Amino acid sequence: ASSFSGKRLSLFGLGGSGIATAHALIAGGADILAWDDNPDSVAKAAAAGIATGDLRGADWSRFSAFVLSPGVPLTHPKPHWTVELARGAGVEVIGDIELFCRERVLRAPAAPFVAITGTNGKSTTTALTAHILKSAGRDTQMGGNIGRAIMTLDPPAEGRHYVVECSSYQIDLAPSINPTAGILLNLTPDHLDRHGTMAHYASIKERLVAGSETAIVGVDDSWCAQIADRLERAGREVIRISKRLPLTDGYFADGSNLMEAVHGRYSRVAFLEGIGSLRGQHNAQNALAAVAACLKVGLDLGEIQAGLESFPGLAHRMEQVGRKDHVLFINDSKATNADAAAPALSSFSRIYWIAGGLPKEGGIEPLRGFFPRIAKAYLIGEAAPAFSATLGEAVPYEISGTLAAAVEHAAHDAALDDGGEAVVLLSPACASFDQFKNFEVRGEAFRQAASAIDGVKPIGG
Ligand code: ADP
Repeated sequence: ASSFSGKRLSLFGLGGSGIATAHALIAGGADILAWDDNPDSVAKAAAAGIATGDLRGADWSRFSAFVLSPGVPLTHPKPHWTVELARGAGVEVIGDIELFCRERVLRAPAAPFVAITGTNGKSTTTALTAHILKSAGRDTQMGGNIGRAIMTLDPPAEGRHYVVECSSYQIDLAPSINPTAGILLNLTPDHLDRHGTMAHYASIKERLVAGSETAIVGVDDSWCAQIADRLERAGREVIRISKRLPLTDGYFADGSNLMEAVHGRYSRVAFLEGIGSLRGQHNAQNALAAVAACLKVGLDLGEIQAGLESFPGLAHRMEQVGRKDHVLFINDSKATNADAAAPALSSFSRIYWIAGGLPKEGGIEPLRGFFPRIAKAYLIGEAAPAFSATLGEAVPYEISGTLAAAVEHAAHDAALDDGGEAVVLLSPACASFDQFKNFEVRGEAFRQAASAIDGVKPIGG
């Protein structure tokens, strides 16, 4: 990163992305002093040729900027001590996305840059947009809050496309974020522990689209709808998307058809019919955003449709892992709370539902509206007693105990279902830590248990 060539910077947080950032800055001619609370990380960085030193004793008046790695608390529960030092010395605090943005402006300002944020669907939309661009033959780099840290991507060059997932935290540390197309999918009360009020959380997310050449905004919630109106009044180019409303201008979903509206006249731009990896209304929102961004950077409709159809989906998010006759096995292990399980439960109708694990506050009470879709529930882990109490008389259930037993019993029962497509769905509405290392390991265990069943044909993986 050459935007700080000849300047002195401090950096805190020497995990993988911190080290990548330090190397990029050094390669660009900056003078770095890096530190971490963890002595092992400091030793590793020093061994990799990065100058390290305790920032408490440093001369902050000499730093042009302070770079804070993702994952180091900026505001919660209070600012990290380094942030307080930086602010006290009047040194600006930035993150790796900001470094990328400045680098792009210097090296390749026309390199297409799609940035994605929102409460839900960020990773899916990021992966989908990158996939469509790649399959159309565009030079595409994907990273940020998904996959690779942004400073480990190939450097900005003309014609190179960037698709970057941004958390609120990363936007907060990127004052000059300037995407070609900025996507704000949705805003629902979440992560408020970290950002205080909803208004503050929304204002951080708004900054991403406010800095965009074209702002693509999902207008299905009132927070985002107001942001779209505000940007438009300020004279910005705004593209509205809706997963359910026919808009006058913008893109909206009509069943599985993705429609463009221009002054109230509609035409179909793409369709999701038969695309298993993009089932469900929530995925229509993700797909509409990806389509709008790909059109903005110049793809044609044929290229976009081909990319939608070949999208493999993301692992552990409503991922189709196997099929046997009319029974589909779906791994939604990422759904670690009730809100995250809602999209999967709303996307299918004959559901053999595997749920449970380490319970979260509120349990599955918010999912009551989906109970009629559940043929039977198979409860695992510590949450089983509480979940069974909520299901009560409304849904037949068994306490399966382990995931392996749950898959076996659910597959058996689903095979006997004669009501059309039946789904064995792992969408646990719980954290995994009582029985698994993390949600990925839980999802893999589900995939293996499903594929071990006689006659199940694997999908993807
Ligand atoms: P994020 O990166 O924002 O956490 P993901 O794309 O990883 O989002 O999706 C995580 C889960 O959130 C999915 O399994 C699904 O249950 C839900 N989800 C995905 N897209 C949306 C959306 N557009 N609106 C609401 N929920 C969504």
